Amino acid sequence: MLKQPIILIFYQNLRFHDQPLLANAIQQEAPIIPIFINDPKLITQLGVASQWWLYESLIEFQKQWESSFGIELILRTGDSIEVLQELVQETNANKIYLGKRYTATEIAIDQSIQKTFTQQGIEVKFFNTHLLLDPPTIHNQQGKSFQMFTPFWKSCLHKIGKVKTVDDSFTPLKYNRAISSESLTNWTWGHTQEAWTQKLARYWQPSETRGLKQLDRFLKNNLKGYATQRNLLIDPPLTSQLSPYLRWGQVSVRKVFKKVIEAVQVNPSIQQDGNAFLNELGWREFSYHLLFNYPFMQKVPFNIWFKNFPWQKDIMALKKWQKGTTGYPIIDAGMRQLWEEGWMPNRLRMIVASFLVKDLLIDWQYGIAWFRDTLIDADPANNANNWQWVAGCGVDAAPYFRIFNPIIQGKKFDPEGKYIKKYIPELKEVPIPYIHQPWKMSVDLQEELDVIIGINYPKPIVDHSIQRIKALRLWKQLKKIS
Ligand SMILES: Cc1cc2nc3c(=O)[nH]c(=O)nc-3n(C[C@H](O)[C@H](O)[C@H](O)COP(=O)(O)OP(=O)(O)OC[C@H]3O[C@@H](n4cnc5c(N)ncnc54)[C@H](O)[C@@H]3O)c2cc1C
Repeated sequence: MLKQPIILIFYQNLRFHDQPLLANAIQQEAPIIPIFINDPKLITQLGVASQWWLYESLIEFQKQWESSFGIELILRTGDSIEVLQELVQETNANKIYLGKRYTATEIAIDQSIQKTFTQQGIEVKFFNTHLLLDPPTIHNQQGKSFQMFTPFWKSCLHKIGKVKTVDDSFTPLKYNRAISSESLTNWTWGHTQEAWTQKLARYWQPSETRGLKQLDRFLKNNLKGYATQRNLLIDPPLTSQLSPYLRWGQVSVRKVFKKVIEAVQVNPSIQQDGNAFLNELGWREFSYHLLFNYPFMQKVPFNIWFKNFPWQKDIMALKKWQKGTTGYPIIDAGMRQLWEEGWMPNRLRMIVASFLVKDLLIDWQYGIAWFRDTLIDADPANNANNWQWVAGCGVDAAPYFRIFNPIIQGKKFDPEGKYIKKYIPELKEVPIPYIHQPWKMSVDLQEELDVIIGINYPKPIVDHSIQRIKALRLWKQLKKIS
């Protein structure tokens, strides 16, 4: 006799490889019912670029279920508990499997799923699909959470040992009765009203297949040299661009980790590159470690006296930063890339974030919100941890007095201004010595090139050297009274 079915909930684990939900269901030899729940409590927390990514991913994921196994990925809208109650009643499922999630809203939903269905005698099992190590398993010798990255990562590496991925070769059992499913085309998430998200399809293919190709491409072409070159602003970028695939679990972080270790074993000369890359995965783990232990981290500075910082409420300046019209070419190029492609290299994220917080003196909460809305890899843990890091109010953060100079950073990481010229075509003719500070061109040269500063390209919105002094003064005052 066929066993009762198992419901598998898919959310930020949209893949078939290294998929513990599937591997464990196969062991049970029971038919499976894969479902994605369009729970407004979750979807409304996402920015529009993430909604676009998730929506497109679901189209592909549904197709993959159908073509690989002839199984339909069920789509239903509503409160997670109510949707599951109905499905359990319809199918007599006796098990629910899902991947662990870590934001406060997700944890509340998952605890409620566990409580409600366990009381009904249904087995609810959570699997670690998102991280190398599940945050509750990591603590220091005093049993507390880590506050510093280096000891945290050391402890993780000690624990990770030989990373294991789960078996990918399986054929899940189909549940043979008809179950109703909604149509994706009827889901009108926020992104469907935001025309700008349509252009994201020019740059990204949100699917597991594409993510795995991206991983192979990176290992083949760019892992070698990663340690020394990852900060260079080059087109195409020298980093992996795996961030959105990791965010939505289309590529398993365990698989990435394992593949990098294997690549280093085959070619020990890239050991330093491998370590540098794994370190970045470590920062991702650290961000989740912090989010798990400090669920308020997206809103509240770790360093609590930052709450009283006298931020400027300058909406015009914020808008100029968002749209890339600050008059600082490296800042504007980064922000325009973000608006065009939904992505920006890490080095630039640091530079533009520092500019918002320390040059424009605008609250990092506005920055985090803009990134959440426009990044295709917007991640609740990474975004919050990194904004706090740059602002100087985070755990193990850059000190507040470390203020990125947009001109020096530009010269260092885009020495010939090629990156700038790609995203700011109006500066195409500007000679290299002026590309990072075009306002220094003589009036004659501006006229000759037809790049009139203040007309074809904006004047700098602020003077970095003055703002730097102002920011440091405010910070010192705040420190004194705190
Ligand atoms: C202000 C600010 C906001 C950020 N917001 C996000 C965000 O919302 N989502 C996000 O995934 N990353 C965020 N980052 C971290 C980092 O910029 C991106 O992960 C990285 O640029 C993605 O490109 P990649 O995949 O080519 O990275 P690679 O250099 O190839 O790194 C591999 C992976 O490691 C992880 N990683 C790399 N750098 C970091 C880091 N500093 N912190 C945490 N994880 C890291 C990512 O998952 C990344 O995909 C932010 C950084 C800053 C400074």
